[in-house]
Amino acid sequence: MVNSNLKRVTQPCLGPAHSLQSCGARTRRGTLCQKPPLNGKTHCRLHGGLSTGPRTAEGKARIVAAHWKHGRRSRAFTEARKQIGADLHAVEARMRADGLI
Ligand SMILES: [Zn+2]
Repeated sequence: MVNSNLKRVTQPCLGPAHSLQSCGARTRRGTLCQKPPLNGKTHCRLHGGLSTGPRTAEGKARIVAAHWKHGRRSRAFTEARKQIGADLHAVEARMRADGLI
């Protein structure tokens, strides 16, 4: 049986001022938060949208350490890899010049 009195809603009625994005944070029920993020932010006010980020040097260092995954794209590792490649090219050029390869 189909109830024809029910209004079919395909989009949330948030009005033109709100975006259709959602906060996306995980709630205590385990579902995703449906609130729209604050203006210019990625999360709603309940899930970190009001946060202004770390202020102290210790807090900033802790955030950097928390986001560090493996360091294979870090500046130091990239420079070391470039230096190893340059050394290998130099060795290969020397071997070609000496007629070894
Ligand atoms: Zn939220």
